[in-house]
Amino acid sequence: MNILIVYAHPEPTSFNGAMKDLAVQTLTAQGHSVTVADLYTMGWNAVAGPSDTAVRADPDRFSLAREQTIAMESGTIAADIAAEQDRLTRADMVIFQFPVWWFGMPAILKGWVDRVFARGYAYRPGRKYDTGMFKGKLAMLATTTGTSADTYAPDGIDGDILTLLWPVHNGLLRYTGFDVLPPYVAYMPAREDEAGRALQLEGYRQRLESIETTPHLFFHSAEDYGPNERLKPGVLARSGQQRNV
Ligand code: FAD
Repeated sequence: MNILIVYAHPEPTSFNGAMKDLAVQTLTAQGHSVTVADLYTMGWNAVAGPSDTAVRADPDRFSLAREQTIAMESGTIAADIAAEQDRLTRADMVIFQFPVWWFGMPAILKGWVDRVFARGYAYRPGRKYDTGMFKGKLAMLATTTGTSADTYAPDGIDGDILTLLWPVHNGLLRYTGFDVLPPYVAYMPAREDEAGRALQLEGYRQRLESIETTPHLFFHSAEDYGPNERLKPGVLARSGQQRNV
């Protein structure tokens, strides 16, 4: 597979850096072709706005979605965005490597998504979820936290890790058509000892080696929803984050 790792950590010797390096090494050894988008090293501009297109379609009123759509049609999307879209288009699988910051992705990674997942490229009318633009591609989050697995248990103080990551898993990845592997989460590596961190890296290596046999996260398919896009009566909510009311 062509695998793109989108890596968002400012420090190369961080645990996230170690996970990224391990992924490159392990996946390459398995015969995959691996590319890294190292957002801090690239100096990625994370702020979506008027400079995202070479030509402004509507000079009177700025609409990001409209400008993106026209720029994608006319080939005038900014060069840095086009380069990332090319990498994404070529990828069969994308791994997002990041630390949890404020219960979400670091801003530089969110900004990569805001700009690269442009309207007309990553989504367009009638193309979402089962029919999403990236149907056939696979994605996985590889992340780290500052607190323990217990705090991210379903009854933990921080809440279920899958609930925390649902906006990314469903709102970003599944929405645009990806199949999604369960996340690999290294909990509080900074508070583990060397042996504990080595175990976390070993667990990640094993996950990387079993990508093709690991069951995907469950998402309801289109036929489970009625015309109002709510689960049809009698369909048991199984995604883990949705519930029957
Ligand atoms: P590092 O601190 O870089 O590394 C941890 C340890 O691993 C270090 O001792 C390092 O030397 C060591 N290490 C590096 N490479 C290796 C290797 N190859 N082998 C063995 N050891 C190695 N946490 C939450 O849980 N929820 C939040 O909402 C949250 N919000 C945050 C917001 C901000 C702005 C910040 C700065 C932090 C936040 N945190 C939060 C904490 C954050 O998630 C953790 O600090 C981060 O995930 C730890 O990962 P790291 O890569 O930065 O670890």
